[in-house]
Amino acid sequence: MFDAAIIGTGPAGLSAAINLKMRGKEVIWFGSGDFSGKVEKSEKIGNYPGLGLVSGRELNEKFRAHAAQMGLEITDRIVTNISRLKDRYMLLANNEMYEARALLLATGVVPGRGFDGEKELVGMGVSYCATCDGMFYRGKTIAVFCGAKRYEPEVTYLAEMAAKVYLYAGYPGCEVEAPNVEQLKSPIRQVQGGMRLTGITLANGTEVPVDGLFCLRSAIAPTTLLPGLTLEGPHIVVDRHMATNLPGCFAAGDCTGAPYQIAKAVGEGNIAAHSILDYLAEQGREA
Ligand SMILES: Cc1cc2nc3c(=O)[nH]c(=O)nc-3n(C[C@H](O)[C@H](O)[C@H](O)COP(=O)(O)OP(=O)(O)OC[C@H]3O[C@@H](n4cnc5c(N)ncnc54)[C@H](O)[C@@H]3O)c2cc1C
Repeated sequence: MFDAAIIGTGPAGLSAAINLKMRGKEVIWFGSGDFSGKVEKSEKIGNYPGLGLVSGRELNEKFRAHAAQMGLEITDRIVTNISRLKDRYMLLANNEMYEARALLLATGVVPGRGFDGEKELVGMGVSYCATCDGMFYRGKTIAVFCGAKRYEPEVTYLAEMAAKVYLYAGYPGCEVEAPNVEQLKSPIRQVQGGMRLTGITLANGTEVPVDGLFCLRSAIAPTTLLPGLTLEGPHIVVDRHMATNLPGCFAAGDCTGAPYQIAKAVGEGNIAAHSILDYLAEQGREA
């Protein structure tokens, strides 16, 4: 079992990972080998102390170098589900389970809450992981929301499994091509179904019957990921120690609220790491 699991490779997750590593903790760190897509996209960053004016790409590169220098390894997987047992958290990523005593959510802010009806049908036709669930849709009709170019290989894999794929790409220049893939012109708005997903409704009102929906995006709404978390709007409610309402679960960075800034994310990641150290020490005393 790991001492802590960190979800998110943005500035908040990195800051926490550095501090926990310095204190000798066994950490599993989930996210993207590209670190933060948001930092990468920032043209110029001028408000991070000590660096003057840098491009987001330069800063992301510095983050990568710092992580490498510290010997920090990223598990390049999306965590799709978390559950809490008495003294630990169980995390599911690409069909594998990981256990950790403490948990840090540094997932960035999730724009919107997913499609209407999505959360209710997770595991009943809605999936976030092509590799885990693709085989269950062999010969079936599915819809896929592809949130970024990096997920295109997963769409191709799904097209090899399914008989028909309705694809909506949330970015320009999607290059997935297969005879059974039909690109939707209108975005997905709603997920239909009762006990199981039966179809999707598009923004233009068209209803498309499907057996499954794959939502391939880098972030999942916090309460879909970990039921029972207290939110305020899209943000995870935390106290000054970055503690959430769930014991041993902390949150840092954009996911806890505005201002959405790198320095704030780094600071909160630092506080969260120290709170995790206190929590682990407390757990050790009780064991
Ligand atoms: C265009 C643009 C310009 C900006 N300019 C500035 C600026 O000049 N100055 C400034 O201070 N801030 C700027 N920002 C804001 C800044 O980038 C964010 O505040 C900062 O990146 C937040 O860091 P974070 O660690 O909270 O989250 P993020 O950087 O969003 O990182 C979250 C990480 O979590 C991962 N993740 C999420 N869910 C999961 C999951 N379920 N499993 C595994 N991994 C997951 C994501 O892949 C990502 O790697 C800008 C943002 C944008 C978009």
